[in-house]
Amino acid sequence: MSRFWSPIVHKLTPYVAGEQPKLSNLIKLNTNENPYPPSPKVLSSISSTAKLELYPDPNSDQLKDAIADYYQLERSTVFVGNGSDEVLAHIFQALLNHDDPLLFPDVSYSFYPAYCSLYDIRTQPIPLDDQLSIDPDDYRIANGGIIFPNPNAPTGKVLALESVREILNANPDSVVVIDEAYIDFGGETAISLVQDYDNLVVVQTLSKSRSLAGLRVGFAIAQAHLIEALERVKNSFNSYPIDRVAEAAACASFKDVEYFELTRNKIIASREQLSEQLTTLGFTVIPSKANFVFIRHNDFDAEQLAQSLRTESIIVRHFKKPRIEQFLRITIGTAEQCQKLIAALTVIC
Ligand code: PMP
Repeated sequence: MSRFWSPIVHKLTPYVAGEQPKLSNLIKLNTNENPYPPSPKVLSSISSTAKLELYPDPNSDQLKDAIADYYQLERSTVFVGNGSDEVLAHIFQALLNHDDPLLFPDVSYSFYPAYCSLYDIRTQPIPLDDQLSIDPDDYRIANGGIIFPNPNAPTGKVLALESVREILNANPDSVVVIDEAYIDFGGETAISLVQDYDNLVVVQTLSKSRSLAGLRVGFAIAQAHLIEALERVKNSFNSYPIDRVAEAAACASFKDVEYFELTRNKIIASREQLSEQLTTLGFTVIPSKANFVFIRHNDFDAEQLAQSLRTESIIVRHFKKPRIEQFLRITIGTAEQCQKLIAALTVIC
């Protein structure tokens, strides 16, 4: 604490990111990164196309076009930022109505309350139902906006597009943000709904299914009037959000469809196999459509299990939060890493 701190700093409740250990011999299954490296075409694009002596394109047009081509959209419906966390920050600043609270599931991404404390937005967490699912009927109360991940994090549970539509229909006067960080692992994207709903913003990231967490690239898709507000906030903050390396690499990633399909299908196959093996070991496994599983065991304390795995050099995520403190969230690794995890759990359990 310091006498130079502004009043807002005293009130912040910052997000605490998952551990990023230095040791390379650890099996790192704690922060939902992709276990596979990015496409070789991504790596070669960085050295061949990034002119680092020049400022980046302030509009990131090449990347917007690559995303628009991939999803068959107009460029005016695409906004890009330095990771989806930054895109979300701009959304929180630009598109929420401060008269009523922002609604989000009580078990969800912990950056949402962090941004609310930073931007002075009131919050109303909505409890998940007893199956840890989002119930669209709970989102029919007065609000200044709605946000939820789909699939949800850390549960991995997906919400069907029909239910997303229900939430949109019930809230025509507030912005509904669908955070699709994990959508490529089995959910159905709401991008197809953007043309029908003037209040929908879909956010995605290249950090998970495209193996580019280290680069920081995310984007939003919405009707042009919402994108315009995000561009205004961005241009009042930083003219060059995406650096040249990130833009070149992200464009190459969208163009290498074959590599993208190959790696995401491997992760989906490993997730299904791992879920079966964990069930055989006596774990309850929440059905996941993400690149992680959310599990609990009636006979073992989750925090102690995480510590036991740590002594076997495997890091998983345990949240000290009400309702989920007996769960572990485990990122899907390579097939070999998953086997090591099962071998370790077989000994521990
Ligand atoms: N949304 C959710 C639900 C996440 O889990 C994450 C990653 N922690 C993000 C957004 C942010 O991803 P990034 O900033 O790497 O794009």
